Amino acid sequence: MSEAGTGHRAEGQAKKPAAGLRLPVLGNGLGAGESSPGLPLRLHDGEARPISYVRISLTDRCNYRCTYCMPAEGVDLVAKSDILSFEEIELVVLALMQVGVRRVRLTGGEPTVRKDLVALIERLGRLGLEDLSLSTNGERLEELAEPLRRAGLHRLNVSIDTLRPERFAQVTRRGHLDRVLAGLDAVRAAGFRHTKLNAVAMRGFNDDEVGDLCRYAFDRDFIPRFIELMPMSEGALFYPGTFLPAAELRATLEREFGPLLTDRGDIAAAAPIPGVGPARSVFVRYRDRVQRVGLISAVSEPFCDTCNRIRLSATGQLHACLAYDDATDLRALVRSPELAAKPLPVRLQALLTATEAGLAKKRAGHVFSPTGCGGPSKHMVSIGG
Ligand code: SAM
Ligand code: SF4
Repeated sequence: MSEAGTGHRAEGQAKKPAAGLRLPVLGNGLGAGESSPGLPLRLHDGEARPISYVRISLTDRCNYRCTYCMPAEGVDLVAKSDILSFEEIELVVLALMQVGVRRVRLTGGEPTVRKDLVALIERLGRLGLEDLSLSTNGERLEELAEPLRRAGLHRLNVSIDTLRPERFAQVTRRGHLDRVLAGLDAVRAAGFRHTKLNAVAMRGFNDDEVGDLCRYAFDRDFIPRFIELMPMSEGALFYPGTFLPAAELRATLEREFGPLLTDRGDIAAAAPIPGVGPARSVFVRYRDRVQRVGLISAVSEPFCDTCNRIRLSATGQLHACLAYDDATDLRALVRSPELAAKPLPVRLQALLTATEAGLAKKRAGHVFSPTGCGGPSKHMVSIGG
């Protein structure tokens, strides 16, 4: 969350660092470092925020139809030929790694419906990323957890909004709670650690399950996280009255588990997790252990001033921010016949130049409103959550 809670960069914060450093091409048999005037050693957006994390959507398809993510009738799907191939995804990741991006999360749509997902993990796993994770609805994890782990996936985020089968069927329209629960057992058996369980918090739907979802997670060494509903799809999927702010979630957690822990020693006792700063977590005591609960309060307590991420859609559109529709077309560059004929460092540099130009326009913050306004026209399933 932003220190000031405004979502805007503090005045006087350093502006963009000087450009013109050398671009180090990674030692993976692809060639030695090339001089690259005009490119920074580290990627920053136009607000001087360092970018170190990319979310990559593998598909706009999904086997669920969650009510807040896509319309009941589904969305217009893009042609398969328009979706980036594994080679193309790897090229973009390689480019971003040149300038400090070290964390990749694969998402969608539902990434587990992408054919040969395990092979993609193997490819990306060889690049030497610090953190390679996957967001999934969990429907296919029972069969995939073990192969994904063997292929080199580091971590998983699994969406589970409710532990009640009838509610689960209602919110996902097509999902099976028993399969997700079996998938989560498989995740533990495969040896994954720091698995996060994501629940979109909705008044009148799962606000009475906050404690149960936490206990389910704590008892299995998962980390529960509650996400505020975001007004994607021009607010069309944002049902009036369902928005549940983080402040209310904190109050519910206190009723369930006692006062939130603020002592530094207590907080230090909760193991650090890659990519999880304490600012977006609260801590409770449960069965004599300190437990972390994530609160993704993007709407009521924006954290835009610490945003370090960008998003690549399945069709290769680079979104500087989830909250706006504009994007930079990296696919056109990846598929350019002229560029394809050039040496790899030149291709990487072309991608980075375009990325930099796109990020220069990244806004200071979003204007999501708890009334359902201020979001993009894109559906979450299309942009990649
Ligand atoms: N299909 C995978 C899944 O469900 O985890 C990955 C993609 S999904 C778009 C990623 C995350 O976005 C999920 O945790 C989902 O609950 C969340 N999400 C989708 N629509 C949302 C919305 N309108 N507001 C907040 N979170 C949303
Ligand atoms: Fe599919 Fe995930 Fe969206 Fe649900 S939240 S419809 S599982 S992409």
